[in-house]
Amino acid sequence: MNNSFDDVIVGAGIAGIVAGLVKAKQGRRVLLVDSAHVAGGLMKSMHTEEGYVFDYGTHLLSELAIEELDDLLFSEVRKGDWLQFDYLKSGHYIKGVLGEKSPVVDAGTMDLANYYKGLYELVETVSQRSSSYGNLIEQLNCTFGSTITNQLIAPAVEKLFYEPASNLAPDSHLLFGLARVQGFSAESVRILKQFEPLNEALAFRSHHEGKTGQTRFYPSTGGIGQWVNILLEKLSGFGAQVLLGTQIESLGVENGIVNELTLSNGEQVQCNSLTWTVPLFGLLRLLPIELAKPIEPLKFLDSYLVHLIVDRAPITDLHYYCNYDPAFSHFRTTLYSNMQSKGDELGYRATVEVFRPNDSDSSKPTGDSILKELIDCGVFPSNSKVVYEKAELLKNSFPIPTINFRKMQSDQLYIAKKYIKNIELFGKARGDIFFMNDVIVDVYENATR
Ligand SMILES: Cc1cc2nc3c(=O)[nH]c(=O)nc-3n(C[C@H](O)[C@H](O)[C@H](O)COP(=O)(O)OP(=O)(O)OC[C@H]3O[C@@H](n4cnc5c(N)ncnc54)[C@H](O)[C@@H]3O)c2cc1C
Repeated sequence: MNNSFDDVIVGAGIAGIVAGLVKAKQGRRVLLVDSAHVAGGLMKSMHTEEGYVFDYGTHLLSELAIEELDDLLFSEVRKGDWLQFDYLKSGHYIKGVLGEKSPVVDAGTMDLANYYKGLYELVETVSQRSSSYGNLIEQLNCTFGSTITNQLIAPAVEKLFYEPASNLAPDSHLLFGLARVQGFSAESVRILKQFEPLNEALAFRSHHEGKTGQTRFYPSTGGIGQWVNILLEKLSGFGAQVLLGTQIESLGVENGIVNELTLSNGEQVQCNSLTWTVPLFGLLRLLPIELAKPIEPLKFLDSYLVHLIVDRAPITDLHYYCNYDPAFSHFRTTLYSNMQSKGDELGYRATVEVFRPNDSDSSKPTGDSILKELIDCGVFPSNSKVVYEKAELLKNSFPIPTINFRKMQSDQLYIAKKYIKNIELFGKARGDIFFMNDVIVDVYENATR
């Protein structure tokens, strides 16, 4: 292996791969290092011995409305055997109702008295909006009013994070798509949304409205992991090297500049710049500094991905929905047969996400218990059976953005940047940007400079 690089990038998830592509395309000598034996991070697919495929994190790709970046990431996908969608059939489940027209929670699932009271308060609270809030519950009350907050949003947030909303930092609800609610008629919403404070709290009544114009992609057969193979091939075409099953053992730092890294395979490499896309805790432990307070790892939720094959077809045509109802343990269900318009020989594949608090000892969810929930939610018919199941535990999946988490995160970012001048932090290293497209755009905008 060549031992001298312009950029060493730690982590070959989507953040590291895109950083590598952007840098290597500029002619820079790039090395990507990942501790796992397969690249892609959460952008991967799991293949069963029988040949069935299930995805991990993000399922659908979405154009980013930046021409150069879309060409870099999607030119092969656009030409290949991929399905293209101009909108997603996404729904939600709350208060015992599967909403199939929009992913946004529907205030109409409350009883009529609370519905009218809730919408009145939502309009009335416009005068209480502020540019900053002390915690999430304060923000929710000032955005939606107390009825919608207490009946819909706070119970959903608390189910998902296992934390009281008063412990969570403002904007935590955005991580689970709880920015807005549905209410009023479709016509009234169009008029009300012209007033910015109401636009921020109210959603259109259907997933057909408010389309972004960006195309979404999913392979017509197989899983989303194919995209990583396309990107890795491109990366290698630009001359970048990828080293899997490897970690950074130590850093050589001179006057705040990292210029040498020792890898876990014993090799030493020289670099002009370090890009860190994995949790900062691992980097800070390598710094040759004494800190007043020891650094603690940030807390993330653990997630079970329950991959199922069910013998009957789903009775909804949704591509996916999110379950905000505290009566159910699962969050998102993705229905592959609805995306690919066909089942498999054995049945109909689904991946169901179930969260657990960090390092909890709660038991693994079983396929039967999860299918029962899906039947109760009106997703599969009542006589369905599980014909295949596999539950995988993803450690450290979603951040638990308590007020303390945000403080520790900003302290860790401060220390990393104070002691290393030639470092760039993306993806998991930042902790404040979560969704894949936001991660990609952040990398593109900063790594191209
Ligand atoms: C269950 C789940 C569902 C999600 N669904 C969506 C979705 O629908 N839409 C969306 O936009 N986003 C979704 N996300 C978020 C999305 O997965 C992230 O935006 C994306 O994975 C971020 O990419 P990354 O490269 O920062 O991190 P990761 O994908 O986590 O990749 C990090 C990589 O770093 C490697 N690594 C870790 N530690 C080290 C180390 N010390 N040394 C070397 N390598 C290391 C890992 O092996 C991994 O390959 C979801 C996340 C989860 C957990």
